[in-house]
Amino acid sequence: MNYHHILVATDLNDECHPLVARAQALATASNAKLALVHVIEPMAMAFGGDVPMDLSMLQQQQFDQARERIASFADRYPGLTPEQQHLAYGQPRQEIHRLAKENDCDLIVVGSHGRHGLALLLGSTANDVLHGAPCDVLAVRLKKAE
Ligand code: AMP
Repeated sequence: MNYHHILVATDLNDECHPLVARAQALATASNAKLALVHVIEPMAMAFGGDVPMDLSMLQQQQFDQARERIASFADRYPGLTPEQQHLAYGQPRQEIHRLAKENDCDLIVVGSHGRHGLALLLGSTANDVLHGAPCDVLAVRLKKAE
């Protein structure tokens, strides 16, 4: 069975490049389309959802920075047009699932740090994305930062 549209979720760190390389290889082998998604997490989430100030300026800055970061991250992949680079705003799991559904993706690729112990109990984005995913999910093991 071939995949048709592969969505790579990235936090835009350099350690995510192996994910894109893996997804690209799969896309080439299956003649599939490829897309990137980065989810900007609302400032309010970091503060527990209840912030007594206007965060709209900060949110705009988050978006502007993310737009630049995704463009420079995708620079390495000449085949990835701006239409294949999605920015979303919200909770990563929810937004990645939404984009996968909206774009008819049949595979989501995420990075996994292979956490264990307490870090595993705290959860990871890869675990989160797997639960309730609208399509297959490939967790690519990421190397630990030196
Ligand atoms: P984490 O468990 O948060 O360290 O992230 C593991 C993987 O989840 C990353 O390698 C990405 O594939 C994905 N991921 C994490 N944060 C985001 C984000 N904000 N937007 C899209 N994907 C993300």
